[in-house]
Amino acid sequence: MSACAIVGINWGDEGKGRMVDLLTEEYDVVVRYQGGGNAGHTVINEKGKFALHLLPSGIFRDGVVNILGNGVAVDPQNLWAEMEEVMSQNVSLTPENLKISDRASLLLPWHRDLDELEEQRLKDKKFGSTKQGIAPFYSDKYQKKTVLAGELFYPEHLTAHLADLLEWKNLTLTKVYGAKPYTMEALKEWIHDYCEKIKPYICDTGAFLRDANAEGKKILFEAQLGSLRDLDYGIHPYTTSSNTTAAYAPIGSGLPSAKVEEIIGVVKAYSTCVGEGPFVCEMFGDEADKLRKAGFEYGAKTGRARRVGPIDIVATRYGVEVQGATAIALTKLDVLSYLDKIPVCVRYLLDGKETDRFPFPVALSDSKPVIEYLDGWGCDISKIRKWEDLPKAAQEYVLYIEKEIGCYIKYVSVGPERDSIIIR
Ligand code: GDP
Repeated sequence: MSACAIVGINWGDEGKGRMVDLLTEEYDVVVRYQGGGNAGHTVINEKGKFALHLLPSGIFRDGVVNILGNGVAVDPQNLWAEMEEVMSQNVSLTPENLKISDRASLLLPWHRDLDELEEQRLKDKKFGSTKQGIAPFYSDKYQKKTVLAGELFYPEHLTAHLADLLEWKNLTLTKVYGAKPYTMEALKEWIHDYCEKIKPYICDTGAFLRDANAEGKKILFEAQLGSLRDLDYGIHPYTTSSNTTAAYAPIGSGLPSAKVEEIIGVVKAYSTCVGEGPFVCEMFGDEADKLRKAGFEYGAKTGRARRVGPIDIVATRYGVEVQGATAIALTKLDVLSYLDKIPVCVRYLLDGKETDRFPFPVALSDSKPVIEYLDGWGCDISKIRKWEDLPKAAQEYVLYIEKEIGCYIKYVSVGPERDSIIIR
């Protein structure tokens, strides 16, 4: 049946949440399939302004079922805090509209500690982690040293399993990092305070999705972060610890047989990057400050100032290729309205030669951006809703990107609100 994935093409923060919120109108089910609460989607609609971290962006639509799939890092503490926050803003969350996979692994309290301890050990070589425990979580998941959400329904088994994990993990905490060991009492408190709260939402979401698919329901897969943060295809090791690419959606969602016919890649009209690692097109100084301010580029989760730069055609083309994007949503075009001339990173200069191929991660540090300029449009475009009403220079900017990245730009977003969109 009809399945679509909404994915990030760049470093994340492209505005995926905003696109999912818009497009959920046409879908019955929205599934988050990877990642955890370590990034944020900002969604603005008639119900208010929301910073989502783990909850799927379909929770604002009546009748849409939202799923946290087995590929997600479910952090009961953070998830419950986010659920309480959203519910306090009059959004209803019930086991009918929010379902957590019983096969999703739980992010355990020590994962956050281990993230912090390892970043401290690395000092100036740190990865720039958001310290939400995501990397320790996924490494433990692949060692089969986590707890599945469904184990909460088997208390005796859960206690014995946690006792084993506790013994093992305390070795690392105390002997490797010299940190305090965890106790079973602390884990029991964690179960009581957080796991019990999310338990009513946990169920066999795989069976639910298979049924929904058989009934012809429309399913939307929602990704976190972007291509360049994908564990396998991103800028290693400055990636996240899961696969942000659409190809992972069937596995991480719980519907391995899904055929994702439509892959909407979200691209920002300029570049931003949070955290460490090579960022070839980075701008500095006054030029960067102006762009950061115009786009309000501060992290939804961390409040950190994002690194900024012009759109990077080389990285974006690569992002489109690895996502297998079938259409593009170009966001934040309105932010560029203040510029007379718009810089574009068209190629990289590497080893004295210009290239339009995205290099091996190690070579990125030696790559320099080749910048060309396109005309600005010099007026506010945020109220425009039709393609033909966009100033010619703005149309040309969009068409130039479309040609260079080789993918049809179907949506042009000119503001954060749900209806600030031009559909071509
Ligand atoms: P996500 O994680 O990919 O959903 O992105 P974020 O939520 O971290 O960042 C996108 C930010 O840009 C949010 O604050 C959105 O409200 C905002 N936004 C999205 N689209 C547009 C747009 O077209 N114009 C403007 N001005 N803001 C936008």
